[in-house]
Formats: sequence, structure tokens, C-alpha cells
Amino acid sequence: MIYEGKAITVKEIEGGFAQLDFDLTGESVNKFNQLTIGELGEAAEALEKQKKLKGLVVTSSKDTFIVGADITEFTELFAGPEEDLVNNSLKANRIFNSIEDLPFPTVTAINGQALGGGFEMCLSTDFRVMDEKAKVGLPEVKLGIFPGFGGTVRLSRLIGADNAIEWICMGGEQKADKALKAHAVDAVVKSDQLVDAAVDILKEANSGKLDYQARREEKTGKLKLNSMESMMVFETSKGYVAGQSGPNYPSPVEAVKVMQKHAGMTRDKAVEVEAKGFAKMAKTGTAASLVQIFLNDQDLKKKAKDYEKQANQVKMAAVLGAGIMGGGIAYQSALKGTPIMMKDINRDGIKLGLDEAKKQLSKRVEKGKMSADQMGDVLNNIHPTLNYGDFGDVDLVVEAVVENPKVKDSVLRETEDVIGEDKILTSNTSTISIDRLAKNLKRPENFCGMHFFNPVHMMPLVEVIRGEKTSDKAVATTVAYARAMGKSPIVVNDCPGFLVNRILFPYFGGFARLVRDGADFQKVDKVMEKFGWPMGPAYLLDVVGMDTAKHANEVMAEGFPDRMKDEHKSAIDVMFEKDRLGQKSDVGFYQYKLDKKGKQQKVVDESTYDLLKPVVHNSQEFTDDEIIERMMIPLCIETVRCLEDNIVGTAAEADMGLVYGIGFPPFRGGALRYIDDIGLDAFCQMADKYKDLGPLYHPTDGMREMAKAGKKFHG
Ligand code: NAD
Repeated sequence: MIYEGKAITVKEIEGGFAQLDFDLTGESVNKFNQLTIGELGEAAEALEKQKKLKGLVVTSSKDTFIVGADITEFTELFAGPEEDLVNNSLKANRIFNSIEDLPFPTVTAINGQALGGGFEMCLSTDFRVMDEKAKVGLPEVKLGIFPGFGGTVRLSRLIGADNAIEWICMGGEQKADKALKAHAVDAVVKSDQLVDAAVDILKEANSGKLDYQARREEKTGKLKLNSMESMMVFETSKGYVAGQSGPNYPSPVEAVKVMQKHAGMTRDKAVEVEAKGFAKMAKTGTAASLVQIFLNDQDLKKKAKDYEKQANQVKMAAVLGAGIMGGGIAYQSALKGTPIMMKDINRDGIKLGLDEAKKQLSKRVEKGKMSADQMGDVLNNIHPTLNYGDFGDVDLVVEAVVENPKVKDSVLRETEDVIGEDKILTSNTSTISIDRLAKNLKRPENFCGMHFFNPVHMMPLVEVIRGEKTSDKAVATTVAYARAMGKSPIVVNDCPGFLVNRILFPYFGGFARLVRDGADFQKVDKVMEKFGWPMGPAYLLDVVGMDTAKHANEVMAEGFPDRMKDEHKSAIDVMFEKDRLGQKSDVGFYQYKLDKKGKQQKVVDESTYDLLKPVVHNSQEFTDDEIIERMMIPLCIETVRCLEDNIVGTAAEADMGLVYGIGFPPFRGGALRYIDDIGLDAFCQMADKYKDLGPLYHPTDGMREMAKAGKKFHG
């Protein structure tokens, strides 16, 4: 044995070669935590001393190669001084360089996912052989940073600046065939041939058939571009990348700038440039929020997995109602492999639901994500029906009929009579209390809410709503089914609006008050979009539909009259009265016209201002900051109330509900993270400026106590 650690072992193998194997003790995957990096340094030192070795093959004993850095270490690491981050990066780079500089040829056998630092490890060896099913990539931009272990240097020299920009700035995972085509790897083989193929490469390097020194020089030298080519590639990319990522996500553009800056340098100088750029990005609020979101997501997955242990298996599901939501639920279930019955009361409804599924599947076929045969298989997994004939075989039912309590009551009761006694019944209601619906059921313990978001195939969140009598088994089975559908479930307790709508409607309340005081709705939209929302509040109301919004508003006002009841007629009421329902009626705050591709495009409609005149009582001018504060304060305070009222269990779940359910700007990390960033004390002071606007703007006592104690929601 040449070296033995807790994450890495190095031993001699046949032919005078050595094998460095990653196998992190006590973990299901390999990752580059501080321990592994330290051991890699020690292993490199041990290898340098082996004068007789003819080559090194790097392998992994896990199913994946190395999934990347250990992100749980980032929060603490990134909180330190920028200088320490630079030094840390350079220290790690010296270790990667020492692997690259070993006095014999080196090759990595990539058996599974090699991402981030894991792929940077592969890049430090002379050659790479890849399992045909493995994937490689540098996804660091998704965390607001870019590669910091020499990835921007080696990859740009290996596959060319244009390809490296695409791989690094988009952060995607690359399949073996694409990696081979780009020359990121030297061979792609079946898994059982991987190590043999790697050893063959070492033999060829020893015999002189392959020039490993030349490969090394290629990676450690300057980028082979003349100044004209360099300018063309980097300058044009900067504009394109900036357009794709937007101003709130600076790391992709910074990655291009760094690659441009070190293009004319050899490795040791180039990694210094990378390290400085990396540290600068690690210190941004965007990186802090995106890392938090990653960790929150891990937390959600862990909770869901715990539920799954108690879950019944859902082999066959059913959805009642083949409308917008029912059709989407059927499509998603079938796509992810759970067959589903889709019941409606009329044939037209069924046709609409199936047509929607066909439309989504055809798009996948067009994009090459699925074959026509696979599309057929998915469609065969949707069983349309007009009666309850086969419901005896169903494990879980999602009710998604019209939002009418009487209709829902009768449909749920009918269904309860035809499914097995231990089967789970759920409702996709947006506004009706789960406890209220449960009152009519014989087995309320088997009933809970399963609230999807529109469009179902795009929105990751599913709220699983636990009623007073809901059993753990019902929650667990619903969570497991949501996960099987590829969704991120969050378990919440019952209340009007559940978690997400209860928080969204105070935000709309903020909008209504702004319009009343004279704000231009278009300006509000622009400011909130610049703040990071995918769409401003007026546009969002057009998408939700004014009828739905008005109805939900009434439910919220009844549930929380102290703060959500508003005696004034609002902009939403006006639009509703004028039948301007939004996108569904082609006009709301904006008009919607079909473009050449048949997509609805938003067009400014000046007549909206005349219609709104009766509800505009003031003519205040607002700065951008005032608009942001007046919109965000009610949303943030209501999020805190949901946590205080135990509607949601943790700050992580509350924030993820907003990011996954309504597109809260991820780079801000969620409402509670946003308050943490402002500071609770400063947030309360900011809210106090608006106290005359009513209780929606009044921080809770709990917030003031936390502020006094200097507490935060996260960490
Ligand atoms: P929709 O009007 O598009 O579809 C309702 C479907 O239910 C229609 O096809 C109708 O024929 C069918 N239906 C009516 N009575 C039935 C019965 N007795 N048995 C079987 N089918 C019956 O409505 P939608 O937008 O899909 O909403 C459905 C549910 O989902 C509602 O509870 C709604 O609040 C909720 N929801 C909607 C959205 C949204 O954005 N549309 C989002 C989340 C939740």
C-alpha cells in the first residue's frame, strides 16, 4: 500500500502502475470535503516518492465518481475573509497541480457522475476514460460561484474557450458522447471495460504511442488563441452569457472574464487569477443564498425520505377532473412511471386532459428527450374513464374537480365508497379547508391535501396538507407519491391559503394598496421584476386569473379578517367586474395577443388606467425602494406568521415553498433569508415606517423579540 486514508487509498497494481481510489468512509458518495483534499495532498506526496512507478489510474469505489465539493462546508468557508478564500483555493490548486506534475502518465477512470471538483480532479490527470453512462460537468454557477480548483484553466485549454464557456456558464451535466466529441475525455467504454481501458492508455503512454507530456503541456500552457480570436470569443460570449443569466447572477459573466484574463498565462499564474475571481464570487449575497437553497433542498429531501419509510406504495393512482390541473397531474404521474386513471364527468373534459398530455409529450419528442415509442408508453399509462369501474385497484386519488365545496363534497364521498379502506384520498383544492372537506368523510384519517401548482409539469412544489385527523400514513404516502412524480413536497398544516397562498395574498394586498395610493401598475411590475421576480404582481394576477384571485382573496379575508379584509374596492375587483380575467380572457391588466409561434404575448393596454381611476384615491409618487418595501413587507411578515403558527415546520421549508411554489427570486434565498439579510431589527424599523397602512405591515411580537435578541431565522 502506497497510501491509506479515510477517503483515499493508493496501491500498486499489475504492470508497475498504481491505483488511487476514492472511497469516502461512511458516505454513500465521494465528495471533496476538507478531509479528502488533505488526503489527496498526502497521496500525491507519497506518489512523488515512488520513483519506479510507470503510471497512475484514478478510480472510485462508489457508484458515482466524485459528486463535487462538500457544500455543507461552504457556508462557514464563504463567511471568512476573501483573502482566506483565495489562499484556500491556491492551497487546493497546489495539490491538483502536484497530481498533474507526477513524473509518470496519469489517467482517470470516470465510472459515474464527476461534477464540480470531481471533474476538476479528472482534468488534472493526463487522460480520461469514461463509462458510457457517466456524466461530467462543472455546475458551480448554480451556486453563484464558478470552478475554483483549476477548472476554468484546464477545461478552456482542453476543449477550447467556446466550449468551456458553454459548459461552465450553463453549468449543465454532459453525457459521455458529448464529452468525447468535445475532447474532454479520450475514450468512452462500457463499465466492465473501464479500468482495463484506462490501464491500456497508460501502457500506450509508456510505449510512446501516446505523448502524455504533450497532453500535459496543452493543459498547463497558454490558451491557443490569437488576440483577434480571443477578443471575438470572449467579448461576444460576455454579452450572450449576461443576457442568459441576468444581472442578479453575476458568476457566469465573471467566469468568462476570468477565462479571458488568464488566457495568455501559463497554469500557475492562471490559477491565481481563477482563485481571486472565485473568492470574489463566493463573497456575493447570491452565492450565500444559492448555497442556502441547496442546503434547504437537501433538508426537504431528507424529510421526504423519512416520510417515505412509513409510506404505502402507490402502484396505481387516480385523478378526478381532467381539467387544467387534472390533465397536468395525469401527465406528470404517467411520465414518471406511475399509471393513473383520469376520471371526468364528460368526454370533452377527458379529451382536453389527454390533448394536454399529448401536447407536452410531443414537445419532449421534438426536443429529442423521448422517442415516439416512449411517448406511446406514457400515454398508455393514462387511463381515461367516465366512471369509477376500476377504482378498486387505486392506491391514491387526487381530487381536482371544480373549486366548489358542494361538488367536492359529493365527489369525495362517492370516491371514498369505491376505493379500498386503507387507500388514500387527497384534494388539490386551492382554498377550501382540508378539515372542512374531511368532515363529510367516513375515514378522515386517510384524507389530506395535495396542492399542485400551475403548470403542474413546470412547478416543483407540492404542498401536502395535514388536516386535524390526517394519519401519518396518509401524509407519508402522499409525500412518497409526490416524490415519485418528481416533485418537491412540503408538509404543512391546514389553514386558509395553506402556506403559499396565505403568503402570496398579502403581497397582492400590498399591490392593491400601492395602486390605490397612485402607483403605476406597470412601474410596480418593472420594479418587482428587476428585484428578481419572474413576473410583476399585475402580470402574475393576469396569469392566475382575476376570478381565481378574487375568490381566493375572499377566502383569505374571511380567514384572517384582522389584516386581510379590506373595505376598499381593489384593482382586482375592478378587473373582475369588467370581465378582464387576465390571460384566460386575453385581457386583464394587460392585453394578450398570440405571436407567430402561437404564444401569448403581453401588450400594454392604456385603457386599464381609465378603468382603475375609481379605485385610485391618491397621487403619490413612489421610489423603487418604496415599491419594493411596500410589496415585500406584507409577504415577509406573513411568512413569519406561518412559522409562528406552525403552519410550516422550519424556516428552510417556508423559504423553499416560496421559491418552488411562486418563483421567489432564488438569489435572495426566500422571505426569511431576505429578512435575515436585512437584519430583523432593521426590517422591523422599515416596517414601522408603513404602520399606517394597516396590520399587514405590523411585525409580530415574536419578530421584535428575536430582533432584540439579535436572532436570525437561518443559522
Ligand atoms: P378546470 O375547470 O380546468 O377543471 C375541472 C374539471 O373537473 C373539468 O374538466 C370538469 O369537467 C371536471 N369535473 C367537474 N365535476 C366533476 C366530477 N363530479 N367528477 C369528475 N370531474 C369533474 O379546473 P382546474 O383549474 O383544473 O382546477 C381544479 C382544482 O384544482 C380546483 O380545486 C382548483 O382550485 C385547484 N387548483 C387550480 C390551480 C390553477 O391554477 N388552475 C392551481 C392549484 C389548484
